[in-house]
Amino acid sequence: MSGVRHFACTQCGKCCNRAPEVELSEAASLADVFVFRLLFRVYSLPRAPERGADAEVFYQKKRLLAAHAARKSPVKLMRQSKPVDSTSYLLISALALDTLPGACAALDEGRCSIHDRRPLGCRSVPFHYSRPHGLALADFDAFVATPGYACDTSEAGAPFLQGGRIVDAPTLQARGDALQLATIDRPWKEAIVRAMKRGSDSSLPSLADIEANAGFAAMTASMRTAWEIAADTGLLGREKARGLIQQQLATIEREVQRGERSAADWQTLQEMCRDYRQALRQAVVSSLPKLRR
Ligand code: SF4
Ligand code: SF4
Repeated sequence: MSGVRHFACTQCGKCCNRAPEVELSEAASLADVFVFRLLFRVYSLPRAPERGADAEVFYQKKRLLAAHAARKSPVKLMRQSKPVDSTSYLLISALALDTLPGACAALDEGRCSIHDRRPLGCRSVPFHYSRPHGLALADFDAFVATPGYACDTSEAGAPFLQGGRIVDAPTLQARGDALQLATIDRPWKEAIVRAMKRGSDSSLPSLADIEANAGFAAMTASMRTAWEIAADTGLLGREKARGLIQQQLATIEREVQRGERSAADWQTLQEMCRDYRQALRQAVVSSLPKLRR
């Protein structure tokens, strides 16, 4: 097949089968919709492309990781039993909890209820903004071939890829917006990393724990910590941070009312409720005028 691909979303809702992962600033604007957890992931790449690898894709990947990472550090990766000089990238984002099995919490009767303000990851379907351009064709073909997905790939749809390059304007816009957001969120992510290094907040995992778990699973922490760090460092006003905590509490309470869920999910939501209520009480106490003796 040639490198030309057409695409139109028929809004079948089938790819909205789980809650999205979003950038930190996006979480702040969607706190009334989703229950968020702070998410830590690590990606490691050799310093130079390995023999036989596509060098263009490698450097695109490296540029994207560098743009989105909160921190990068040198590591040795084992390749065919030999240590290879590599870089480890720590990514920090916000993960919306799957509050209903197999469906995004924003899905309403099969349609996205927040279409006009859906997250960047949803705006860049069928090719995620964090993926290198060089993988667009393979990713596109795999996505639209997913059983059950009703994407229209006939010529009635707008051209999405030509010669293997993305030509779809909304997707290019979403990719540009994501890079801009990465720059805006960088000081916030760096402040979180500084708090992790200090070990001053027991709800944050240590960098060593994240590295140790990298091969098995991503780690999460309370999003409350992220709002408070943003307020402490002046990235969010205190009132704004307090408002976000209130919004998250209301969203959790709404989700708790919504239906059946596993015991583990129930426990997570209950713990988050307690955590947010305590944060609000502390904020009220710390804002009271000090009593004179
Ligand atoms: S936010 Fe909207 S587009 Fe994104 S996964 Fe949820 S329902 Fe789908
Ligand atoms: S599976 Fe395809 S057609 Fe269905 S909602 Fe997702 S992008 Fe749209």
